[in-house]
Amino acid sequence: MIDHAVVIAGGGPTGMMLAAELALANVDVAVVERRPDHVLVGSRAGGFHSRTIEVLDQRGVADRFLAEGQTAQATMLGTTVLDMSDFPTRHPYSLGIWQNKIERIMADWIAELPVRISYGHEVTGFAADDSGVDVELSDGGSLRAHYLVGCDGGRSVIRRAAGIDFPGWDPTKSNLIAEVEVTEEPPRGIRTDAVGVHGLHRMEDGKTVRVVVTEQQLGPSSEPTLGDLSEALIAVYGTDFGIHSPTWISRFTDMTRQAASYRAGRVLLAGDSAHVHYPAGGQGLSLGVQDAVNLGWKLAQVVNGISPVSLLKTYEDERHPVAARALQHTMASGVLQRGDDRTKALVGMVSELVTMDEPRKRICGIISGLDIHYDLGQGHPLLGRRMPDLDVVTADRPLRVFALLHEAKPVLLNLGEPGGIDITPWNDRVQLIEADYDGPWELPVLGPVTAPTAVLIRPDGYVAWVGDGAETGLRDALTTWFGTP
Ligand SMILES: Cc1cc2nc3c(=O)[nH]c(=O)nc-3n(C[C@H](O)[C@H](O)[C@H](O)COP(=O)(O)OP(=O)(O)OC[C@H]3O[C@@H](n4cnc5c(N)ncnc54)[C@H](O)[C@@H]3O)c2cc1C
Repeated sequence: MIDHAVVIAGGGPTGMMLAAELALANVDVAVVERRPDHVLVGSRAGGFHSRTIEVLDQRGVADRFLAEGQTAQATMLGTTVLDMSDFPTRHPYSLGIWQNKIERIMADWIAELPVRISYGHEVTGFAADDSGVDVELSDGGSLRAHYLVGCDGGRSVIRRAAGIDFPGWDPTKSNLIAEVEVTEEPPRGIRTDAVGVHGLHRMEDGKTVRVVVTEQQLGPSSEPTLGDLSEALIAVYGTDFGIHSPTWISRFTDMTRQAASYRAGRVLLAGDSAHVHYPAGGQGLSLGVQDAVNLGWKLAQVVNGISPVSLLKTYEDERHPVAARALQHTMASGVLQRGDDRTKALVGMVSELVTMDEPRKRICGIISGLDIHYDLGQGHPLLGRRMPDLDVVTADRPLRVFALLHEAKPVLLNLGEPGGIDITPWNDRVQLIEADYDGPWELPVLGPVTAPTAVLIRPDGYVAWVGDGAETGLRDALTTWFGTP
């Protein structure tokens, strides 16, 4: 007997976002999280970028994050900060907000949705057959589901149990990250030397100092100690600032790997379980959240019998290249963070080039995620790209396009002849909205594009069909993405 349609292993940012997407699509979803509650020890990631803010805006929850963070120009290549304030988006910036806050806000959000979350339980493995997956738990129990999604981080048990390869590059350097108290006032800000980047700064409570220090040699895979941190600080600063009372000490490396496949039968991977890399540029959390938003509606349609299983293939086809590109980018960025004289000379040249208009836009497009282009075939530049959040006017009110996506349902936005498009057979699953819009159409990095007469928008906000006055290809697109009527 099936306990839940979908079980998600891991309730980090990716698992929570996926749970929200599935719940919005009326899928019975349960999250199994090994932590005793959503509280994350240590602050970990420092925020996310523009497309992730947009994705949260598409669900009507971006304001919750914006209210607790600080917007800033923070798209970076190596140590060069690039300005994207001229990008055509409502959010032409990144959001600085610690991961423990992000996870708290997400946990509050999914508590409002029909998501079941079991804290204090660990998934140890699974056994899949033709009709479902038995998800094994550390207390000896199990849960049966139609699908299991591994959102269980870089050391994913699910990825290993599924036998999915994780090829890539071994680590070459490691950093210690910690939250401690000090007896000596440390210098503020970032220091770069031949080994890498180091920094200390006081946290909001005025007492705790967040430390990130690059180790002189690649550290071991064991848990780091206060002694290791002291040694690493003395090597860089000549003192350990009297560190004591750590609440969190962790080690991360520049190991860079990506799952060879994102799916093995009824088991899928998303977030860090599918890709790990050095946090240079701060893209990991954003990638995971966007994996979840790409997978959520597709898995929901398969589970709800609307679409064939083959729809799941498009998840890997679309998201694997996005993460592969981020991996390349973070490897380059990691190198550009070295502070030896030869690398500094390279950084100087690269900085000069990437602050020129064209390259700046290209790099900001990549890091922000605003330039993502899923390969949906030839056609109008909007095809496969994110739908801009336009201010349109319907018969009864003005509204933002993203407001139409709050419930994660597809939209056919008719901006041409009112009543000119008929999608009656798909009425139960695609919203047909008649609206007017006479403003500009401008896409990030690409610039102005021709105004379409209609667009078919997927629940993840990407354009699946573009109208030019005729309905050519519309029925095929509706069938491909939203099933046969
Ligand atoms: C120092 C640092 C700075 C970073 N800065 C940024 C940044 O600025 N921007 C950014 O976008 N990203 C950043 N990242 C990356 C970001 O933290 C990760 O990419 C992100 O947390 C991935 O989310 P996830 O949900 O996929 O995985 P995780 O956050 O690892 O979540 C996995 C969850 O699964 C649970 N779990 C694991 N195994 C099991 C199991 N067997 N059973 C049940 N539960 C399990 C874990 O307890 C955890 O809650 C940074 C990372 C580090 C280390």
